[in-house]
Amino acid sequence: MRKKVIAGNWKMNMLPNETIHFIEELTPLVKDTQNEVILCVPYTDLFYALLTAQNTNIKIGAQNMHFEEEGAYTGEISGKMLKSIQVEYVILGHSERRQYFQETDEIINKKVKAAFQYELKPILCVGETLEEREAGTTEEVITKQTERALEGLSKEQVEKTIIAYEPIWAIGTGKTATKEEANNSIQAIRNKIAQNYGQTVADRVIIQYGGSIKSTNAKELFEMSDIDGGLVGGASLKADEFAKIIQYNKEG
Ligand code: PEP
Repeated sequence: MRKKVIAGNWKMNMLPNETIHFIEELTPLVKDTQNEVILCVPYTDLFYALLTAQNTNIKIGAQNMHFEEEGAYTGEISGKMLKSIQVEYVILGHSERRQYFQETDEIINKKVKAAFQYELKPILCVGETLEEREAGTTEEVITKQTERALEGLSKEQVEKTIIAYEPIWAIGTGKTATKEEANNSIQAIRNKIAQNYGQTVADRVIIQYGGSIKSTNAKELFEMSDIDGGLVGGASLKADEFAKIIQYNKEG
């Protein structure tokens, strides 16, 4: 059975002192969960987050990286650099990176390959715009994005990739895909993976939903057959709210 993986994406929010405080508050609230907990923080918070999360079940990730190892790329951070401070995860291809920083499927594919080169686990984001959904092309868009981002990876690498299905119209808007819409899109991605890499890989790969997840809608989404947890933006900025999402299946 696949594990539920709940990851927070802080985007460009939180200072080091807030990071330390947040993790200290979150730790006791989630220490008994069976779900995997990941917090993807800004570069400037990584070191503090890693230190504060030591000996807890909270894993730390970055939100982006360059595909080159080093060189004349002012302002960029490489996979080698993230690995050197023991970061475990990295979000790649978030729609905000695609939209504001012109990241293409080809660039994202290079980044995913570079992440594996440095033993980082990628959280690969895919998702359709509102226009694409209304034009009935959701499945085509998200399966193409997935295929292109994973091109050239081995079956083992595909199995280790976390895919986050994030409809762009649902990110930060308060509009959530219905649980059926989210599950159908995720099933389409899983079917494409089965077609390209075999049923075993498809049955094991973690595919999350992302887009306006809150403590009030997490349970119905995460209980769907193909939704393996979530990538949470806004609601991951408050420790008690994020903890409720992580603990969506806690009894009592
Ligand atoms: C995200 O940034 O990946 C996201 C899903 O944001 P939000 O939860 O705020 O919609």
